Amino acid sequence: MGEGLVVPTGGRTSAPLTGTLQSFDSMTEAVNPFESLQEQIDDAAAFLDVEPGVLERIKHPERVLEANLAVEMDDGSVAVFRAYRSQFNGDRGPYKGGIRYHPNVTRDEVKALSGWMVFKCATVDIPYGGGKGGIAIEPDDYSESELERITRSFAKELRPVIGEDRDIPAPDVNTGQREMNWIKDTYETLENTTAPGVVTGKAIGSGGSAGRVEATGRSTMIAAREAFDYLGTDVDGATVAVQGYGNAGSVAARLIAEMGADVVAVSDSRGAVYRPDGLDAAAAKAHKNETGSVIGFEGADEEITNEDLLTLDVDLLVPAALENAIDGDLARDVRADVIVEAANGPLTPNADDVLTERDVLVVPDILANAGGVTVSYFEWVQNRQRFSWTEERVNEELEAIIVDAFDGLVSTHEVRGTPNLRTAAYVVAIQRVLEAYRQAGNWP
Ligand code: NAD
Repeated sequence: MGEGLVVPTGGRTSAPLTGTLQSFDSMTEAVNPFESLQEQIDDAAAFLDVEPGVLERIKHPERVLEANLAVEMDDGSVAVFRAYRSQFNGDRGPYKGGIRYHPNVTRDEVKALSGWMVFKCATVDIPYGGGKGGIAIEPDDYSESELERITRSFAKELRPVIGEDRDIPAPDVNTGQREMNWIKDTYETLENTTAPGVVTGKAIGSGGSAGRVEATGRSTMIAAREAFDYLGTDVDGATVAVQGYGNAGSVAARLIAEMGADVVAVSDSRGAVYRPDGLDAAAAKAHKNETGSVIGFEGADEEITNEDLLTLDVDLLVPAALENAIDGDLARDVRADVIVEAANGPLTPNADDVLTERDVLVVPDILANAGGVTVSYFEWVQNRQRFSWTEERVNEELEAIIVDAFDGLVSTHEVRGTPNLRTAAYVVAIQRVLEAYRQAGNWP
């Protein structure tokens, strides 16, 4: 390594990383998402007859790759980035899960996210295990050519452990079609083959699927509609607040607004904008695309904080940013009747307890945002078949899977008497994972 070696701590200007992920600065409750995952598994295990060793096995990843990517910067210096890929469980199929670029990425965050993928794929009954990856980086601090070299360097490290039948990455926070195309190209070049199904979330021209960009927001919309229906109310006319206005949040807002709801507040990492009579969700996104933030959107009446947004008196709250957005204290101030989790892990276990006690209906992440991985699965099927589906077919098949899974959770919740839909989802999912594990038998 040259003299110019620098080791960014997540980003050129960001604070050093700590072992415990704390996504939200305003929070007082420091929660490690991996411990949250294990608590969620334990809550569900109380409703199942699982031997302690078998339970322990599904509470930990099978393996975690940690890599240090030494990459040349545009100025000729070398920077080193910490990167991870966790393969949590492969009992039901190849490992599957996104790749996140964020300064707060840690080994434990990636482990938690990979575990949530296992139970998400099992909740919607698609034949995948769970994995997740990430690089501790603030991507805004790097040029496109630097990001390309960083991504290709990560893809080189991933090459021995990924593959169409082994482990299939996808986009997550701060990654998208561009990064997936680079990973696919690096993998295919090094393997001297074509393997479009090695990643999903690609651009259409590189083997992506119609409907993939919208899929996470679409399943969030379907979950919201089903939740209101379950409560005997209608989304038409409901008021909605959306925290996080990226891929998942902005599409969910637009599709929920198309059902007649009033999206009154939306936010991103810089703050929130509010208009009590409803704002134009698509115009707010266009403003964010143009300026980098929803802040300054002229179609809003006022700017508020993210905390204000989370405690607005609305019918539906959609957290669509990062983990731990709502802790136990904040949960006491939440005034929404329904929460649909577009983000992964937005509620701490304490928040979950408070909201369950307060009778707030929470549709868990492993169902609500499962549209992303479901359409990733459709993309992978199309890649394997070398055949493309229409967007109409993609959306129809997605609708059927999410509605079916929602009904399954409600019936498990009612029949088994779980405290909430999250525990019902884990009961359903763990049963499916254990069934595959038992049928395969234990390998020494
Ligand atoms: P994204 O990068 O497109 O958007 C994230 C948004 O969150 C951005 O608008 C960002 O400004 C905002 N944000 C970040 N910190 C914030 C804060 N402190 N307060 C308010 N907003 C904040 O990412 P995405 O793909 O939309 O992912 C969002 C969530 O959805 C993540 O939890 C991700 O794991 C989950 N998810 C995404 C997909 C997918 O297909 N993209 C699938 C399943 C789950």
